[in-house]
Amino acid sequence: MSAHAPPRRVVVYGLGGTIAMASDGGAGVVPALSAAQLVEAVPGLAEAGIEVEVVDFRRLPSASLGFADLLELAGRIGGRLARGGVDGVVVVQGTDTLEETAYLLDLFHTASVPIVVTGAMRNPTLAGADGPANLLAAVRTAAHPASRGRGVLVVLADQIHAAGRVRKTHTTSVCAFASPDSGPLGLLTEGVPGFLWGPVDRFALDLAAVRARPSVPLVTVVLGDDGLLLRGLAGRADGLVVAGAGGGHVPRGLVSVLGDLAGRMPVVLASRVGGGPVLGATYAYPGSERDLLERGLVSAGFLDPFKARVLLWALLACGADRDAVVSAFRVAGGSARG
Ligand code: ASP
Repeated sequence: MSAHAPPRRVVVYGLGGTIAMASDGGAGVVPALSAAQLVEAVPGLAEAGIEVEVVDFRRLPSASLGFADLLELAGRIGGRLARGGVDGVVVVQGTDTLEETAYLLDLFHTASVPIVVTGAMRNPTLAGADGPANLLAAVRTAAHPASRGRGVLVVLADQIHAAGRVRKTHTTSVCAFASPDSGPLGLLTEGVPGFLWGPVDRFALDLAAVRARPSVPLVTVVLGDDGLLLRGLAGRADGLVVAGAGGGHVPRGLVSVLGDLAGRMPVVLASRVGGGPVLGATYAYPGSERDLLERGLVSAGFLDPFKARVLLWALLACGADRDAVVSAFRVAGGSARG
């Protein structure tokens, strides 16, 4: 960058989470710090040559965030980007639902300005709190020109992940975030973001098209499942995601209820395993992936059950019909290639 280039500008939206928590005076920590306080507590940020603008958006534990919060945030970010002068956006939130919120933001983000989502595994009262390092890495990634055109990124522990691939894989480790099917998109080394891969394929929706608040449950199939959670869903849900065992399998006793539900609403078949795609052409027994797909369930492809649910919710919120759901999952699930 030339000595005369204007400083890059990043807008930081604070949503709460462990990174923003402080002692409640008793046994635990609660969301307490503002976005400005978070930014002020980062050593090296003031010297990074990046102008930071802060927005105190929410102060919540991330399990209490909802679709309405995230849609409002997407709208606020879009409005701020339209006013211009922003090189990158950082969203700071709790890690518990980060893999879902980042993907929802990614679905509605069409601008090339990067949005980077980060958080912390250790709260500020603990030795080795990771919040300041993660926030600094996120701001540097958001400000870097190489991050443009890559949609929403997730940065923790100096790793850069694509929102569509990242998972929270540990309850306490500072290295909790991973992309099981591809590895990270990039790394920060000596504070500089570098990318190992090109931009990933993404699927995008128009925020202005959102017109409904559908109900989309996720049901995980378990050993000896008697279908208690599935029976009675007809007429009560607008769509369903089933996290099947292995490559997308259910007990034979659930086949007819799932086939019936798939005739009434979109039912997406994902895998509960945590890595690898839903199969499509291997097993043919009752309750196998082939059986379920032939009965009208839609494959989630490589999308894990949580992201599949976010995508189905967003599609139904935008009024998508069954054909639109099928083609969206072919693209977003990575099964449209070849
Ligand atoms: N319970 C916290 C939250 O998601 C955990 C975290 O931030 O890591 O808000």
